[in-house]
Amino acid sequence: MSFSSLGLSAELLRAVSDQGYAEPTPVQSRAIPVVLSGRDLMAAAQTGTGKTAGFTLPLLQHLQSNPAMAARRKPVRVLVLTPTRELAAQVGESVQTYGKYLPFTTAVIFGGVNINPQMDKLHRGVDIVVATPGRLLDHVQQKTIDLSKVEILVLDEGDRMLDMGFIRDIRRILGLLPHRRQNLLFSATFSEDIRQLAAGLLKNPETIDVAPRNSTVELITQRVHPVDKGHKRELLAHLIKSGDWRQVLVFTRTKHGANRLCEQLQKDGIQSAAIHGNKTQSARTRALADFKQGRVRVLVATDIAARGLDIDQLPHVVNFDLPNVPEDYVHRIGRTGRAGSTGEAISLVSPDERGLLKDIERLLRQELPRAAVNDFKPDPHARPEPADRPAHGARHSHRQESGGWHSRPGSRGHRPRSATSRNAGR
Ligand code: AMP
Repeated sequence: MSFSSLGLSAELLRAVSDQGYAEPTPVQSRAIPVVLSGRDLMAAAQTGTGKTAGFTLPLLQHLQSNPAMAARRKPVRVLVLTPTRELAAQVGESVQTYGKYLPFTTAVIFGGVNINPQMDKLHRGVDIVVATPGRLLDHVQQKTIDLSKVEILVLDEGDRMLDMGFIRDIRRILGLLPHRRQNLLFSATFSEDIRQLAAGLLKNPETIDVAPRNSTVELITQRVHPVDKGHKRELLAHLIKSGDWRQVLVFTRTKHGANRLCEQLQKDGIQSAAIHGNKTQSARTRALADFKQGRVRVLVATDIAARGLDIDQLPHVVNFDLPNVPEDYVHRIGRTGRAGSTGEAISLVSPDERGLLKDIERLLRQELPRAAVNDFKPDPHARPEPADRPAHGARHSHRQESGGWHSRPGSRGHRPRSATSRNAGR
């Protein structure tokens, strides 16, 4: 399949070819025709699948094929909602990239930055708005945006929006949109919550699921290094230095943990930056730019801050702490081995995290290879230290006591998505 057979205009094809893409990814070849047909869409696709171009290209095509009615001020015709500022910024960049030969204007709207430039931009009139829900509603309240002419609504990373508690904001925003519109819902998972949201939002949708999670996972070499909690930082520094890793994304469970690790690595002489929700937008943008340009070797991130970071071909991802929610492991390691390249995902697992490791292995339906690193083997006689996580993490304690290093089959107890994933990085 080639891009030219998808029904995209010459301007869009030229922009795609400038990016050097040889052919559409599976999500693109399936989603683009559906969006162009005007139907609602529910797509299971996570970051790394090319989903952003999967909705950006056809929505630009829609704008091009259906000129707006003449009006005093340009109406907002496309609204893309994203859970995080980073993702909004990246979707905004994609719209610029793919729309560079087209005349459409875009505003990217998120909190944590001055609202006035956003107001000015909206006042001048834009075709496309990419926004996080909270700041969008601020604009609604200030009457600086009119959503009554929206033709296409995109909810990107829908599952993450629900995790982050945006459901009420989303419902308020839906109430401001015209009844007749096209809706596109992208989500990494089809949880019950997402299905419920979809049922109220989508009309007779086409459903595509091009991202059986393991297809991403298969490209990634995964390894577990058992290590005592107190030696994780030294082991990480050793791995980075001995492997001469130049670009590594490290996940911690908490913002505090991210800051602390970042400071310690700096002391070890490894240039590092932390990225999480307590950082200002400009600090996050700077950290990401420094990382991409190689000025910083290690980016330490919390789960939510890392969602949607557009970093190509990341060779190494390290789980300094395992996530409380097994699905987050898949999101994390999906940051490597992207768009066909292979990558390595390493988890530093202390004895208190064995229960979390088993949950992850159950989700993946595979046992991850363990490899103790000489000089960092965990002390078999040591009492497990308490995990570095908020108090509710204690729900794992019963498993930690009985757990050994090897996974055993067992039923996966139902756990609600944890508050940690909601709070981390906000
Ligand atoms: P996304 O899943 O939208 O975050 O995209 C993941 C990465 O894949 C981005 O860095 C894109 O630049 C890249 N990408 C998107 N479409 C293609 C394609 N057709 N061929 C190769 N890379 C692509």
